[in-house]
Amino acid sequence: MEVLMRNMFQSLAKNQPANKLAKRYGLRLGAARFVAGESINMAIDAVKKLNKEGKVVTLDHLGEFISTEAEAVESAAMCIQTLDAIAEAKAESNLSLKMTSLGLDINRELCMKNMRNILDRAKSYGNFVRIDMEDYGHCQESINIYKELRQEYNNVGIVLQAYLYRTEADIADLNDLHANLRLVKGAYKESPSVAFPEKKDVDENFKKIIKQHLLNGNYAAVATHDEAMVEYAKSVVEEYGIHKDQFEFQMLYGICEDLQDRLVKEGYKVRIYVPYGIDWFGYFMRRLAERPANVWFIVKNFFK
Ligand code: FAD
Repeated sequence: MEVLMRNMFQSLAKNQPANKLAKRYGLRLGAARFVAGESINMAIDAVKKLNKEGKVVTLDHLGEFISTEAEAVESAAMCIQTLDAIAEAKAESNLSLKMTSLGLDINRELCMKNMRNILDRAKSYGNFVRIDMEDYGHCQESINIYKELRQEYNNVGIVLQAYLYRTEADIADLNDLHANLRLVKGAYKESPSVAFPEKKDVDENFKKIIKQHLLNGNYAAVATHDEAMVEYAKSVVEEYGIHKDQFEFQMLYGICEDLQDRLVKEGYKVRIYVPYGIDWFGYFMRRLAERPANVWFIVKNFFK
């Protein structure tokens, strides 16, 4: 049953008509638990609240399916507006974004131009931009783009996913660039030909890549709500004397807040991924797929 629901939510996340329809109706079905709001002002309010709790943030202006160059340019403008708002509010937040929302599937050159504009603005504020990792079909190209941009910028990072067989080799490959990586388990529905189908194998690989990247001496953002993985990362940094400046924990807005608070109290750097915007549906469906028990939020909110 759980597997069926997982598959259903992962398919809905990719369903363009459902995503387009949801945009028209505003945050519904309990999505506000995971999405800070539809406007930049609401997002900045959420960032400030988290900052007061001792957490830093990465803001994501949601935008998944774009089909025209004009939409890609608009999406880049929203990223720049987000960086401006962060600077104006003196908020402790960087920016996360997706290559497809900047036009990767439409025009690669435009996507690169959008990225350079965003990175230039971020640099002017001393801020940092992270490229989220999408489905396997976009993995190689996202890494290619990251490598190209990393030659020009030192304020850019990327995400690698533990469920992919290729990730161990990607970490070795990116070592020369001293890549700043967010390491995650992976959120998309992938074929067993490219990704570990069993959770226990994903967890083992996650541990392996956390250790590999930290021991390479590079910056790691360990992004998980899995306490066993958090404890594992803590044990590695303790055993090898890795300084607190070389890593941070990251979690998603609205998920496992107790664990977030505990880590802050223990003196770890904790960054919260805060999504905002009207394009909430795909993001929300992926959160339901990760934990189908979240579906009770939909049921409760449907009858409100
Ligand atoms: P799991 O084993 O899935 O979960 C461990 C425990 O955490 C669960 O038992 C449950 O208690 C809690 N939990 C996990 N998910 C949820 C949820 N949705 N709702 C409520 N409780 C939950 N994936 C990508 O593919 N690309 C990205 O760029 C990306 N960026 C991310 C950024 C951040 C900051 C984080 C935290 C995750 C990101 N992810 C990304 C998602 C990631 O790949 C996983 O799908 C997600 O984090 C769930 O895995 P987990 O490590 O928390 O472990």
